[in-house]
Amino acid sequence: MIHSFRYNHKGRDLHFIFDVESGSLHNVDRSCYIISKSLYGKLDSAEKSELDGMDKQLICEITAELKQLEGEGGINCANYCDSGDKQIGEIKALCLHICHDCNLRCKYCFADEGTYHSKIREYMSFEVGQKAIDFLIANSGKRKSLEVDFFGGEPLMNLGVVKSIVEYAKAEASKHGKEFNFTMTTNCVLLTDENIKWLNEEMYNVVLSIDGRELVHDNLRRTINGKGSQSLVLANAKKFREVRGDKSYYVRGTFTAHNLDFAADVLYLRDQGFDQISVEPVVLPEDSPMALRAEHLPAIAKEYEKLAAEYLESRSHGKWFNFFHFMMDLDGGPCVKKRITGCGAGCEYLSVTPYGDIYPCHQFSEEKGYKLGSVVTGEFGLDISKKFAKNTVFNKPDCMVCPAKYYCSGGCCANNTHFVGDMSNPYAISCEMMRKRFELSLAIAGIERSLV
Ligand code: SF4
Ligand code: SF4
Ligand code: SF4
Repeated sequence: MIHSFRYNHKGRDLHFIFDVESGSLHNVDRSCYIISKSLYGKLDSAEKSELDGMDKQLICEITAELKQLEGEGGINCANYCDSGDKQIGEIKALCLHICHDCNLRCKYCFADEGTYHSKIREYMSFEVGQKAIDFLIANSGKRKSLEVDFFGGEPLMNLGVVKSIVEYAKAEASKHGKEFNFTMTTNCVLLTDENIKWLNEEMYNVVLSIDGRELVHDNLRRTINGKGSQSLVLANAKKFREVRGDKSYYVRGTFTAHNLDFAADVLYLRDQGFDQISVEPVVLPEDSPMALRAEHLPAIAKEYEKLAAEYLESRSHGKWFNFFHFMMDLDGGPCVKKRITGCGAGCEYLSVTPYGDIYPCHQFSEEKGYKLGSVVTGEFGLDISKKFAKNTVFNKPDCMVCPAKYYCSGGCCANNTHFVGDMSNPYAISCEMMRKRFELSLAIAGIERSLV
């Protein structure tokens, strides 16, 4: 499958052809773009007229060159194929819901402001945490490197237990020949100097939640008393950034229908000194005033284009930063098996609630029909995992013909389940945004590697 696209860089139209199966990107001229589209894709009526008016000799020469490239495996490579099922029975990562409570009241919170739709604000005990670590080690098979993500609500509200779990996991790891990488997602409210020091020493990665500009952030991320949290959160996140050095972290924001000009939030975060930035589209039911709906997609596509132009400009003029959705590894990256299986939820990645119940991931927490077992009782079945194992790109007809398939990996099965009613049926609004970001990432990679 070949994906042909244009990108306007500083007023100049650039043309690319991307071979989906081999992952090779070619910067071509307009004539080659039109001819390749006629051979491998579909021309629109204006492009058809352009082809009709083209010099026949030129068409023959370009066609011959494209066919030669095809013969050499540079384009139009055969579809990769295998059974596609994910591996089950060897768990790699657990997301521990350290507490179902939060010190913020974000209006778009999928976790119902930390409670996960429960009336009780529950905290994980050290005993449940211990059992979760034992469960992970016992079900990790030959895997040496294991991951634990401390999640909430707000995990720093139960930091004493987090610290005890980390100490326990490290001690158990050395007994069983394993290694742990710990990560935490925090809203930054409780990032004191002491907490920052500990997190910096123990956490392999830390995700700092900030939405961007003060008005945008404070509109939706408020304290229990209804006040804006941005000034406190930003100051704390900056303190954390200062001591973090080269270790992994990123700031993660969310954009909604209220800030379709989200490129300004990304650039704001850059200007605050953060160089690892992710700002994600909110996913909410259509009737929410914050939800992104089909009518917003043209404006969102334009905003991503604007961000791509600013991104290239910024990175080439000394203000280097990463925007996660524009990161594209054209030389390496994960193997095909990994690319078609995505996040691993329900199979190699599971979440554990404060009571010790096991779910496919945090977004399925407390959801009827999705409980796999309990680290407390020891009950654990693979029936639900088998269902998730089949949920790969190769089992989704829409994904099989999508040019972004090896980079998107078939979307988020939680969103597909909650918004389409079927984990194998992609959520169209997310897909359209994904494909836009995918094209822009390819163009950025091409430009930055001086292909043009
Ligand atoms: S900080 Fe996170 S868990 Fe807390 S209310 Fe906001 S989105 Fe929900
Ligand atoms: S963008 Fe949509 S169709 Fe394409 S691979 Fe992702 S989920 Fe599948
Ligand atoms: S299913 Fe979606 S929400 Fe759950 S871990 Fe995967 S990508 Fe994240």
